[in-house]
Amino acid sequence: MIVSFNPSVRTLMGPGPSDVPPRILSALARPTIGHLDPEFVNMMDEVKGLLQYAFQTKNELTIPVSAPGSAGMECCFVNLVEAGDKVIVCQNGVFGGRMKENVERLGATAIMVEDEWGTAVDLAKVEQALKDNPDTKIVAFVHAETSTGASSDAKALCALAHQHDCITIVDAVTSLGGSELKVDEWGIDAIYSGTQKCLSCVPGLSPVSFNEKAIEIIKNRKSKVNSWFLDLNLVMGYWGANAKRAYHHTAPVNALYALHESLVILQQEGLENSWARHTHHHLALRAGLEAMGLEFVVAENDRLPQLNAVTIPEGVDEAQVRSRLLNEYNLEIGAGLGSLAGKVWRIGLMGHSSRGENILLCLSALEAILSDMGAKINIGVAIPAAQKALNQ
Ligand SMILES: *Cc1c(COP(=O)(O)O)cnc(C)c1O
Repeated sequence: MIVSFNPSVRTLMGPGPSDVPPRILSALARPTIGHLDPEFVNMMDEVKGLLQYAFQTKNELTIPVSAPGSAGMECCFVNLVEAGDKVIVCQNGVFGGRMKENVERLGATAIMVEDEWGTAVDLAKVEQALKDNPDTKIVAFVHAETSTGASSDAKALCALAHQHDCITIVDAVTSLGGSELKVDEWGIDAIYSGTQKCLSCVPGLSPVSFNEKAIEIIKNRKSKVNSWFLDLNLVMGYWGANAKRAYHHTAPVNALYALHESLVILQQEGLENSWARHTHHHLALRAGLEAMGLEFVVAENDRLPQLNAVTIPEGVDEAQVRSRLLNEYNLEIGAGLGSLAGKVWRIGLMGHSSRGENILLCLSALEAILSDMGAKINIGVAIPAAQKALNQ
């Protein structure tokens, strides 16, 4: 007979999901009520307000899509792109490639601007693509590329797109809550994120936000949105301001309690404080890893604090290290993807995972396993280096 599932308690320091704090897990266990219950509708409004704070926007259409980050991505593209459109897609890692898939499946043309994995999106290349393609409608890029740990200059990319009369679609799945992000000030037109990265909520929801310009485009489409579930014209009747709350789909009631709790936690900490905490802990992890002799993949100025891609010591079986971390220390870190597969580890410091004790656990576990495997690393220096940085 199959019995109840009881997972091990892990420390999650990979590319997501991040550690979910007990406060959020207990919010999930609160009584399920109807999704049209006035109490629930009131909570939905609070979630919208809290998301506006997290995104730093006054956009009315700021809601969680009832599905993971990938659905938020699809929601932006399927609503804003029509067959025949031209979209500049910046690719410097895995997720830009998924944007291309979205654009092409909608019968539109993706003009690819490619940068090496581990580097930021190159503004000069985007400008050239805009000049070469004056009929471009949208510029799409990933703010925080989780596959490499590189951050791109979202503010400058949006300004450039607007100079050429384009709107922007921004992937902020890993940036939201973890590093500076200002939707209104930077002029982001459409943005999507996820709950399981720096918000430290359970996976399965995707906060999105659209400004007036984007909504105008959606309302004036020549063709119907190619997805019934993600058609914002319909979703707005459920989540929209002054909407009649017409039944569209059953919201994931308990998952939204969890999102509400995670956003209350963010508000209590303060958004700027959360950004600063991610940077502080990144610097401590970095001090420890570099003392040990590991190197960062991304140039210093483009590094994400919440996702640290580091090189693997020569001759080490990287998969074996990860499985020993999991089995012996209940600690998860991430592998490299795509062109970085087998070459790097990705150590996440996202949301609730971004804590001093996690850094010390990760460094001591890595040091113990690597030295046991005979890797050439510096012993006994990582923890003091990290501790010094933590005390600064
Ligand atoms: C995780 C991630 C996604 C996808 O989110 P899911 O919730 O896994 O669907 C998209 N873009 C980036 C940059 C991500 O890190």
